[in-house]
Amino acid sequence: MVSITRKVEFSASHLYHNPAFSPEENRRVFGKCNNPHGHGHNYVLEVTVKGEPDPATGMVLDLKELKEILQTEIIERMDHRFLNYEVPELAGQIPTCENIASVIWRLLEPRITRGRLDRVRLFETPDLFVDCYGDDGAGTNGRGPQ
Ligand SMILES: [Zn+2]
Repeated sequence: MVSITRKVEFSASHLYHNPAFSPEENRRVFGKCNNPHGHGHNYVLEVTVKGEPDPATGMVLDLKELKEILQTEIIERMDHRFLNYEVPELAGQIPTCENIASVIWRLLEPRITRGRLDRVRLFETPDLFVDCYGDDGAGTNGRGPQ
């Protein structure tokens, strides 16, 4: 088994707000991130695919294809967007790094046809990142409780 990782960057803005909370609770829980005008991040996304290299090509999957998938599924959808309002997959969710990484997993997983998606790592800042491994074994990645 070999895992291969590709990295892409996108810039997007967001704000944290839970409509079920009072304005005071929103400010207390989310602090500056509750600013209604939002704020931006330069996100760095690392996508890891695991598999056996194809003996004919020596590759786990076609890197050009992975680049194209990341471009169409993630960059075109999220780059220079206000994540709360412009990304339908995040509608009704607080666009935390955790929730964005889960959405990215769900967008990419069905598109990986050789090898399998192993990890989605999303950096919100250089010293903060989250790892997503799918939906707790409910998907096809075989992780987590069965
Ligand atoms: Zn933020």
